[in-house]
Amino acid sequence: MSKAVMGQDGSIRLPGDFLLRRRLSQGMEWWLDQRDVALILLPRLSDLRKLYVEPTTVCNLNCRTCIRNVWKDSKAHMEMETLRQLVEQTKELSELRRVVFSGLGEPLTHPHILEMVRLVRERDLAVTIGSNGLLLDKAMSRELVALGVDRLVVSLDGVTPETYAGVRGAMISQVLDNIRGLNEAKRELGSLMPTLGIEFIALRSNIAELADLTGLASQLGAARVLVSNVLAYTDEMRDEILYGYEPRAPFSAGSWPVKADAWVMWGTLELPRMHWGAEQHCRFVQDRAMVVGWDGGVAPCYALSHNYSYLSVDGRRKEVTRYALGNIAQQSILEIWTSEEYCRFRNEVRDFHFPSCPDCDLRESCDLREQNKGCWGWNPSCADCLWAQNIVQCP
Ligand code: SF4
Ligand code: SF4
Ligand code: SF4
Repeated sequence: MSKAVMGQDGSIRLPGDFLLRRRLSQGMEWWLDQRDVALILLPRLSDLRKLYVEPTTVCNLNCRTCIRNVWKDSKAHMEMETLRQLVEQTKELSELRRVVFSGLGEPLTHPHILEMVRLVRERDLAVTIGSNGLLLDKAMSRELVALGVDRLVVSLDGVTPETYAGVRGAMISQVLDNIRGLNEAKRELGSLMPTLGIEFIALRSNIAELADLTGLASQLGAARVLVSNVLAYTDEMRDEILYGYEPRAPFSAGSWPVKADAWVMWGTLELPRMHWGAEQHCRFVQDRAMVVGWDGGVAPCYALSHNYSYLSVDGRRKEVTRYALGNIAQQSILEIWTSEEYCRFRNEVRDFHFPSCPDCDLRESCDLREQNKGCWGWNPSCADCLWAQNIVQCP
């Protein structure tokens, strides 16, 4: 451990080898924080790497599993002016690599989604789109290929028409035709992009079809299948939950060959954790990601990006209040990212400095946890976050 010395004027001299090792340079700014006896220096770095952008909260479907069954938030499209401001502000973010158009609506319902993608691609940023695939007709596919979108993740919560329709109320044949159309568009335009990912929300009523999903993924040329557990918003979903507090067997894994030009890669199946565990880490914070909602509001993750309620791991209903760290109409993304509150929140999450509500003796009677608040003083609390447990996963 290196030793630091405080001078008479209160300045602290950090050892040279420490500065070199941590790549700390002159003029860097820090927020000063403390926890118990520890002094914490939080660097104000422009190191945001991934931006999740919610183009809309409008959707063309009405899935049984959707948050929209319980929330009262507005259903609206992002203004183009908001998107233009966002793209302009990304010029200050030298480490930004990817924009993910997804969120709690269907991105392809936005009337200007192609213009949005074009503006982001002009900044030479990689683009992922998450979609239910129903509006992905041949013309849309050709445009997305031509714009250089490099990943498309389509939600498929079943393999048979009955199961898919039971969750989504739509016809799987239309989505599969659209994906085949996308593959044709890629062939015609001589592109390997976008690579295809499939997102599968595991339920008691569809889990038997997971084994067949890898065969379908192989036929469709998907490089990745991401399996997530359901975040149960309605009481009807209680019976569909497969995970729990007590240990239970994981889903079985598999892989399949995917043709990529002259190469053959192996497709991967990413499985969620099935029970509450000791290890917690937040992918949003670790990936240095931020969520910009349809109205320009900034949240640290999807879990805290809207007002809604859901059932926590032990079945208690929890009211989540949106955690807005700013709005890009009033402050730049960089100002919000490097603000004292956001730097401190990320540090709390990185250290996972939250109690574990499901393991607490007061869990049955404590109403703090019903409101997304914590007893250790930091609100909102990530204390029983299912994302931090990898029980619920996002693309
Ligand atoms: S497609 Fe997505 S946003 Fe639309 S209703 Fe289904 S789960 Fe909700
Ligand atoms: S908020 Fe604190 S007291 Fe309440 S259940 Fe969670 S850990 Fe226990
Ligand atoms: S731990 Fe959960 S609630 Fe906290 S920031 Fe991460 S995803 Fe959001």
